[in-house]
This record gives sequence, C-alpha cells and structure tokens, in this order.
Amino acid sequence: MPQRVTSLFIPLFILLGSLLAGVYTQQLPNLALALLPWLPYILVVVMALMAWHFNRGKVLLAGLLILTPAFFPYIQNDSLPSSATTVTALGLGLLLLLRERGFFNRYVFNRFLFLAMLLMWSFAYEKQWVHFKFLAFAVPLIDMPLSTLLCWAVVVLALGLCLYIWWRANDAFSSAVLVSLLTLLLLEVLTLNRLQESALRSAQILIWIWFFVAESHRMAYRDELTQLPSRRALNEALQALPRHYAIAMLDVDHFKKFNDSYGHDKGDEVLQKVAEVLQQFNGYAAVFRYGGEEFTLLFKGRHLEQAGEVLEQVREQISAQQLDVSTDKKTKHVSVSASLGLAHAQPNEWPDEVIKRADEALYKAKRKGRNCIVTARSPNKT
Ligand code: GH3
Ligand code: MG
Ligand code: MG
Repeated sequence: MPQRVTSLFIPLFILLGSLLAGVYTQQLPNLALALLPWLPYILVVVMALMAWHFNRGKVLLAGLLILTPAFFPYIQNDSLPSSATTVTALGLGLLLLLRERGFFNRYVFNRFLFLAMLLMWSFAYEKQWVHFKFLAFAVPLIDMPLSTLLCWAVVVLALGLCLYIWWRANDAFSSAVLVSLLTLLLLEVLTLNRLQESALRSAQILIWIWFFVAESHRMAYRDELTQLPSRRALNEALQALPRHYAIAMLDVDHFKKFNDSYGHDKGDEVLQKVAEVLQQFNGYAAVFRYGGEEFTLLFKGRHLEQAGEVLEQVREQISAQQLDVSTDKKTKHVSVSASLGLAHAQPNEWPDEVIKRADEALYKAKRKGRNCIVTARSPNKT
C-alpha cells in the first residue's frame, strides 16, 4: 500500500500544483503570460525527445493523445465528454494493455493509425458529416443521447481498467496514465480559461517527463529479473548505516548444475522465487540482489538479535519452494537450497570488511555441506 501511494505522490503533486498555479495566472509577468499557451507544446516536444531517447513508443502515443483534446475542442457544447476526450481516454486505457515495442516502427505506426481513425470517425460524427440515427436516441430515465452515454461508458471503463492495472502493476507507467486520465476528466468538467487550461495540460505532460525520471531511477537501482534493489542500491545503503548492523550473504547452492539440467529460464524462475521469499522478510532486513545467484540482507538496529532466526526461516522457506520442470516428457517438482553467511559489524569496522567476513562465513557454509547458516566470528584485533 505505501509503495502504491508513493508512486502517485509526485504526479498528483504536479497536478495539484498546476491547479493552484491556475488560480494565480493573472499575476504572471507579461512574458510568462504570452508563453503559457505554448508551454504544453514545448513540453510535448521534450516528452517526445525523451521517448525517443528511452525508446518508448507508448509514451510518444500518450503525448499525442494528451494533446488531442486541445486540437479538437467540442463542437456541440452539450455533448460531454467530447469525442476527443473519449478517444484519448480509450487510447490511454489501451496503452496499458499493449506491449512496449520501441519508439517508432510498424507497431507504433499501426497504433497511431488506429487512434487517428477513431478520432476522425468521432470528429465526423460530431460535425454531423456522418449520421448514425441510433446514436441520437434519447435514453429514457437519464435524458441523455445514446452517444453521450456511450462516451461516458468508455471514459469510466478506461478509468476502471487503469485503476485495476495500477493496483496490480504498481509501476510508474500506470501511475502516469492514471493521473493523466484524472487530469483529462478535470479538463472536461471544470470551467477553465485558456491559461488555466494550458497550465493543466502542461502538468499532464510534466507527469510523463517525471515518468522518465522515475524510470531512470528504477533502471539504475532495481534489478530487472527479481525487482529487488540492485548492487548500486546496496552500495549507497552501505554509506549510511547505523552503528549496529549485520550483513548476511546468501548464495543458491549448485545453481550452475540446476541451469545445466533444466535450462536458464527455469534458473531465472528460481531466482525470482528466492527474491519473493526474501521480500517477505523486508520488515526485518533490507534485501538486495548482489549479483548472479547471490543476495544480501542488511539488518539494522533493533532487528539485529533476530538476524539468525530470520535467516533460518529464509533458508527453510527457500528449500520448501517447489518448481515444476519438464524432462523427457515427464514433469517433476524440484527445489533448490541456499547457504548463508552472517557477520555482525564490530565497532570501527568498515562495511566492506563486514561483507568480506559474511562472504567468508558463506564459503564455510558451502564447505560444511551447503543448505546451512554460518555466523562469522569477530575479527581478531591486533
Ligand atoms: P555453489 O553451490 O558452490 O554456489 O555452486 P554454484 O553452481 O551455485 O556456483 P557457480 O558460481 O559455479 O555458478 C553460478 C551460476 O549461476 C553460473 C551462472 O550461469 C548462474 N547465473 C548467474 N546469474 C544468473 C541469472 O541471472 N540467471 C540464471 N539462470 N543463471 C545465472
Ligand atoms: Mg555464487
Ligand atoms: Mg551458488
């Protein structure tokens, strides 16, 4: 839950900031007043350049979709939501379901054509160049034409889908789509002047620029396979440790043999399962993927006494994990084990030295026959 909320924190902050700024637009100096209507377009160019740099075609499409309602304001004032808003909401919802396939290629081109076609049809309908009699039918009880009801249904469905995917995936992309959709709705229902509209549209694009910042951070500090914090995150955590801490190194046993027997993909699954087990102990220790099949657990302060007990549970849970593998047309359950080395930091000891002692304890555990924990002795004082 807290992680979900933090992923929304900055996008919502940008949105609220723009709403507040909208109230004070008249206080801006003349030059800023003249530039504000252009700001969304300047920002969308930055967004497109970043999408190119990061090879993200879905973000390019998101940028184009977000600006669509600015180019196609409603034609019939009574038809809320406008067709452009409906297509944007639908497009943003669809982006959540599609795979990222790179910045510009036939996939992105086809997606672009599909969205442009939807937009043209709805625009032609609003302009009354084409007529679909059944869409003008007034729905009883709610006193609304069927076309408006369908538009609302699309917007609400897109929002529901977005909420569901954001809740499940909890990533920067779905957070950006969710806040973009909320902004789209605000633009639709609030009565805004041109400057306030520009401020809100700029915020909508800034949210995507923030997405790239969050994404770069994730790529640098999260391990792609296990989604655990990476070695870089560990190195930074080692710079700001409390006085009392302990470090444990964990290494999967005979992992090369496992890979050779069941394939690299199954090996990857094992690493993901080990990471899942480790994440359950996040409340006691910060966990990191050190590299390859090695993981690090960092115990700080009050959990220090429990470190040994926690590691015993980790060891047990890893060996209890079962994985289905197919060999010679047969499916069987296999499991792996892990060895662990634990070292408590001594006064005036550098974190590197503690890691080294934990590593030596790990190798002792390997020599003892694996699937066990060895606690390092205090270093000899000279
Ligand atoms: P020990 O019990 O002594 O630790 O033996 P081991 O086989 O686990 O150790 P070794 O260092 O010989 O082999 C580690 C293997 O881990 C070799 C490498 O192919 C595999 N490996 C490292 N990273 C990954 C990965 O991301 N995915 C997969 N599938 N295998 C990996
Ligand atoms: Mg190893
Ligand atoms: Mg190993």
